[in-house]
Amino acid sequence: MNKILLSAKPVVNKIKHSVSEQVRSFIEKYSRRPKLSVILVGCDPASIIYTGKKGEAAIAVGIEHETISLPENTSPKDVKSVLQRLNSDPLVDGILIQRPLPKGFPEKDVVFLVSPEKDVDAFHPLNIGKFTLGLPGLKPCTPAGIMELLNFYNILPESKIVTIIGRSSIVGKPMAAMFLQANATIIQCHSKTSNLRELSKQADILVVAAGKAGLIDSSYIKSNAVVVDVGIHKTNEGKIIGDVLFDDVIEKVSAITPVPGGVGPMTIAMLLQNTLFAANNREEPSRLCKSQF
Ligand code: NAD
Repeated sequence: MNKILLSAKPVVNKIKHSVSEQVRSFIEKYSRRPKLSVILVGCDPASIIYTGKKGEAAIAVGIEHETISLPENTSPKDVKSVLQRLNSDPLVDGILIQRPLPKGFPEKDVVFLVSPEKDVDAFHPLNIGKFTLGLPGLKPCTPAGIMELLNFYNILPESKIVTIIGRSSIVGKPMAAMFLQANATIIQCHSKTSNLRELSKQADILVVAAGKAGLIDSSYIKSNAVVVDVGIHKTNEGKIIGDVLFDDVIEKVSAITPVPGGVGPMTIAMLLQNTLFAANNREEPSRLCKSQF
């Protein structure tokens, strides 16, 4: 059986092409560019790389971008005042607070203050409620990117058993809501799950977002399963690896995402799509979206 490497590259190229065209129409119509503002607190090396990549991707499709870098010891009050300024700036369409925030920073005190209409990470309870109900709006980038990736490769979740390892608000929980919306049957696992191997082995589609390098080997995989590896880790040798032992499972799977080059680039592509959606929605809210804000 041919194995499919679920590479993000062709999907991302397609999305970037489409977003660039739509950005061009947006500029013609409203005489301004959509704008994404990223708040970076502290100097976590991975976060600096991620914000840089987001900025480059935005600029490449014509979206204006700024990273507001704040020192490690910035107080929640100061982050709040930056947020207030960005929320009320008519030229800012998308706001993102890069995670992780510095150790001990009370994340919940700030993330929910991003205006829901500019919340391109879709963390705000209003946006979470909307996509959980299947209403149009901003969607969390990583799970939305995974759905796009599977769709591009014609992997249809309907009637499949999908096991999701992880229940974070950013990946695992919204992932479950999206697969449910797509008529899959969901098994959600987490750190307190006692029979992880057994539940993973039931999956037609296994999504691994545990944040544990190499957690999943071939003994967790049903023959011909589709495996989506969300994890990103840097080894001591500087290699990027996922939560899944790629070389060990490859013989067993029918399709698998590479790390790097799978879920990561899809997340950034979805951020561009969300920023464009937010910009269009702010300029000319459709009746449906307007009534929801
Ligand atoms: P998190 O730490 O917030 O959540 C991890 C989840 O995994 C938790 O719900 C926990 O209960 C569960 N878990 C941990 N150990 C487990 C175990 N042994 N068995 C079963 N469940 C276990 O992490 P997150 O923010 O959801 O991210 C997960 C991973 O995905 C990380 O490696 C992160 O870097 C990566 N990530 C990648 C992208 C991307 O764009 N590729 C985006 C977001 C996160």
